[in-house]
Amino acid sequence: MRRRASLHDTALYLRGQINTRLSRVFNAWDRTPRPEPPPLAEVIAGERSPLALSRLLEGRSNPAREAAVARYLDARGVAFARHAFTSNEGSGENFSVDLGSGNRVLLLIAHHDAVPGSPGANDNAAAVGVLLTLLERLSASLPPTLRVRLLFTAAEERGYLGARQYVREANLAELAGVLSLELCGIGDSVAVWDVADETPFLGRVRAALEGIGLRRDESYNIVGRIPMFGSDHRAFAAAGVPAYGLTLVPAAQAEALRQFIFSPVRSAFRYLVRRPAPFDTYHTARDSGSTLEPAALAVALRALEAVVAEVA
Ligand SMILES: [Zn+2]
Repeated sequence: MRRRASLHDTALYLRGQINTRLSRVFNAWDRTPRPEPPPLAEVIAGERSPLALSRLLEGRSNPAREAAVARYLDARGVAFARHAFTSNEGSGENFSVDLGSGNRVLLLIAHHDAVPGSPGANDNAAAVGVLLTLLERLSASLPPTLRVRLLFTAAEERGYLGARQYVREANLAELAGVLSLELCGIGDSVAVWDVADETPFLGRVRAALEGIGLRRDESYNIVGRIPMFGSDHRAFAAAGVPAYGLTLVPAAQAEALRQFIFSPVRSAFRYLVRRPAPFDTYHTARDSGSTLEPAALAVALRALEAVVAEVA
């Protein structure tokens, strides 16, 4: 069992290495002008919407992105836990915020790191902006019987390293379910992905999405295991917790997306092939805040609010 776990870690480590190195090489070639990040104090004092808060991270280095999340939470007077880790795969710091009380925990994740050379707006500053906005909303109306935990992870781009480290110390038994937010800023349709089988948590998620008027296979999709892409939820799924990815996609691209993500060859050679949105900017120098759509972010936020209410 231990041996298998460590082989699994090695595979993820290698994938993370390939991921970051390819991005560094390809993005170094890209002459797209990089956005100049605004002063942090300006963002912290500014508007609290997903788009505005994505600027805490967009275009900054990974250490600066990590520090920005902590600085924002500090500045807003939010109590949060720090989970620093060091391993032979790398180091970083996850941050978690617990809202509400109760024995069951709904865990919502957004990673704060980005691949080298990418401003990392849709991947994944947008998702961090969504969770920080949700934090404001939930603070005003907490569900009485559910704890909602917002987890901001480090080093997702290195084979979910931050999430894997977090799983080692977490009380998994209290988790009602996990959603990892990825690419939440472009599109009009919600995709819940890496769904292997039916779980009570999946039923709640589906009811929540239908409750806000989304329709299956039109404005939301339940998608099976995706071959070449992944996110932090996989660290929890590997431990037996119901855990899925949540992404916004343009409904008009549904067929092109299906062909892209379910073809391991096309996904593996993604740097070389023509890719449908939102993958056309994914991990590239063009993943800037100017591509983010406030309407997409609003759908993601509404979906999460509905999931919180449904799971509570
Ligand atoms: Zn990501």
